[in-house]
Amino acid sequence: MQISGHEVIIAGGGPTGLMLAGELALAGVDVAIVEKRLSRDVEGSRAGGLHPRAIELLDQRGIAGRFALQGKKHYVVPFPGVMLNGADRPSRHNYTLAIWQAEIEKGLAGWVCELAVPTYRGREVTDFSEDDNGVDIVLDNERMLRAQFLVGCDGGRSLVRKKAGIAFPGWDADISYLIFEADMSDQPPSGFRHGEKGIYAIGPHEDGKRFRGVVTEERLMSGGKPGHDELHRALVAAYDTDFGVHNVTWLSRFTDAARQADAYRKGRILLAGDAAHVHSPAGGQGLNTGLQDAVNLGWKLAQVIKGISPDSLLDTYHDERHPVGAALLKHTLAITALNRGDARTTALREMMAEVMPMDEPRKWYTALMSGLDVHYDLGEGHPLLGRRVPDLDITTGGGPTTVFTLLHDARPVLLNLSTSGDLDITGWGDRIKQVDATFEGVMKLPVIGVVETPSAILIRPDGHAAWTGAGQTNGLSAALEAWFGPPLGR
Ligand SMILES: Cc1cc2nc3c(=O)[nH]c(=O)nc-3n(C[C@H](O)[C@H](O)[C@H](O)COP(=O)(O)OP(=O)(O)OC[C@H]3O[C@@H](n4cnc5c(N)ncnc54)[C@H](O)[C@@H]3O)c2cc1C
Repeated sequence: MQISGHEVIIAGGGPTGLMLAGELALAGVDVAIVEKRLSRDVEGSRAGGLHPRAIELLDQRGIAGRFALQGKKHYVVPFPGVMLNGADRPSRHNYTLAIWQAEIEKGLAGWVCELAVPTYRGREVTDFSEDDNGVDIVLDNERMLRAQFLVGCDGGRSLVRKKAGIAFPGWDADISYLIFEADMSDQPPSGFRHGEKGIYAIGPHEDGKRFRGVVTEERLMSGGKPGHDELHRALVAAYDTDFGVHNVTWLSRFTDAARQADAYRKGRILLAGDAAHVHSPAGGQGLNTGLQDAVNLGWKLAQVIKGISPDSLLDTYHDERHPVGAALLKHTLAITALNRGDARTTALREMMAEVMPMDEPRKWYTALMSGLDVHYDLGEGHPLLGRRVPDLDITTGGGPTTVFTLLHDARPVLLNLSTSGDLDITGWGDRIKQVDATFEGVMKLPVIGVVETPSAILIRPDGHAAWTGAGQTNGLSAALEAWFGPPLGR
């Protein structure tokens, strides 16, 4: 059996696996992807947009422009029964970018290719075993790879999760839907409808000829490949006609089942993206959350591999991302419930549609659905602590720049915004980029509003604030050590 090695193997080269591979490669880790698909084609449309925080993550690495040119910007956020204005979200990217998953994957794959990440394409992880020093990973029951860590980015049916024995508790499906792309002889009505069990819709495909639609099935179905008969039956049940549907180029089934891995890490095995959480596509959160998982995990894994941080840093990945996934599951269950068409749910939805446009709920919900509200619990302190640092326009000795530009190489930054004050990072200078800058504006955080600008901010490579200063350096050394390892020479 042939054996070769890498520091990290990622099972699955979907959006999550690609993002993680890029993050690890930027940090100088020897990472490889194993992807069972032979080509980059994505079956059907799947995800249809990037939300503000996901676009910000790409901007933090200097690659948002590759995606932004391809999609249309939408400044509203859908809630069952009402569209909410999200244009006042305090972000340079205060919009959803309408771009299909295939294009998102193509963009990420291009970046990963530039970073020279090898991909074992057309290969499947079929088994693995872990020992004290690493993981032996079996491809197609024949070839073996050795790595220090294996990350399962292998989607909702994750083999990595199952073989690692990580439980996947949650809610069984209550409703199943068929999603399709097809020709239709008769013109269907476009737009959303609320059926007894849930929402359904048909709309024109971008090619101007075909249609794309989602219909609720009358009875809960699971697994298996749905056939033309089932699509015909579901359309007739919903619309009294199948509109002469034919030439079906994509037909797939999804449900409202919601499940989450009870551990995102078990020893040398980690999970991210759909492998760690599945839920209904209502709210369009899956891919976006997977990208955020990857960016939270990448720098931590890199630091542990390089011996900068102790292994326990990896536990913070679960501690920070599991609550985000748990909240996501709850919100998609709520959206699915509110989309039912029975009289009582309709009354509730109409009531909520009155409440949600009010300022506070609107700001809360639009930030939530954008991923801009994520707050990791790093203790008491300035409201920015644990939250994502906004992309401030700052001026450094080199001229005007932005905070996100400082993060392009995925290294931690100590941003000194005060004119006085000596921030001593002796012992961490090899890891932390110290930048003196001025900032003239006001700092505004999603939902919270305007906050006092800290005198200094320690920014993690994922863009979250690990420490903030108020004219002094109390707690800075502790934060540096907690997140970026002990100082040199100790
Ligand atoms: C109809 C629909 C609409 C959606 N709409 C949205 C939306 O609007 N917004 C949004 O954010 N999300 C949406 N999603 C969800 C989104 O598609 C997923 O959340 C996203 O694809 C998850 O990315 P991932 O990389 O974690 O997993 P996947 O995309 O599932 O990628 C997993 C990869 O692993 C590979 N793989 C699997 N097993 C193995 C193995 N053993 N060895 C090697 N490779 C393996 C697979 O081939 C695949 O490429 C939608 C999903 C559906 C079905």
